[in-house]
Amino acid sequence: MSVVALVPAAGRGERLGLGVAKAFVPIAGHPLLWHAVRGVLASGCVDAVVVAAPGSDLERAVATMARLGEAVSVVAGGATRVESVRLALQHADAMLPEIDVVLVHDAARAFTPPAVFTAVVDAVRRGHPAVVPVLPLVDTVKQVDGTGRVVATVDRSTLRSVQTPQGFAPDLLRRAHEQSGGDGVTDDAGLVEALGEPVHAVPGDPTALKITTPFDLALAEAVLAR
Ligand code: C5P
Repeated sequence: MSVVALVPAAGRGERLGLGVAKAFVPIAGHPLLWHAVRGVLASGCVDAVVVAAPGSDLERAVATMARLGEAVSVVAGGATRVESVRLALQHADAMLPEIDVVLVHDAARAFTPPAVFTAVVDAVRRGHPAVVPVLPLVDTVKQVDGTGRVVATVDRSTLRSVQTPQGFAPDLLRRAHEQSGGDGVTDDAGLVEALGEPVHAVPGDPTALKITTPFDLALAEAVLAR
């Protein structure tokens, strides 16, 4: 039985404002995507990785991944994150016969520590068919209307922010991608929830931050330097 990690990396990364696809933003001399996939492999619990790369930069992604060995393959991503994951999943299914855990891991969370990967894989193998790493919220959370008026203060004690890798039993993830439209859904666990199936939470890690803004990039560089 094997674990495959799907890495959606086909976003444009406009919020970074660097004029280059986020996957190829250099951090300490290597593209973000290189760090992300190296981190997946360094977890020691993943047998194969399928990257969904920007279609316009496919050759560049293949060249970047070539340095990381034969366990990594690259497909062209889609117009949305859900589509990119679906395309990577189809490729994994065609390539690997005996998958027992599928991880979906955003390239933007390039510095996720190995312990988060192993916690997610272990939880799937212990019988949770959908697993997400989460963090408690530190800020007070308010609901605000269109005019900027605060409508309510939300009880943050039951809220969590959700990271990746998210882990799934392969059949459930396939069904979620076949049956859910994906409109407005920002993660794969959301597709599973839309089916009415349970999702289990395990502890995430602050260093698994999603690199979205120039500030996040500076934080990631600090994490790496440490
Ligand atoms: O846009 P957002 O930051 O939510 O993207 C999360 C992840 O999904 C990123 O790693 C991004 O590269 C990926 N993505 C993708 N295909 C798209 C859009 C986003 O693989 N069409």
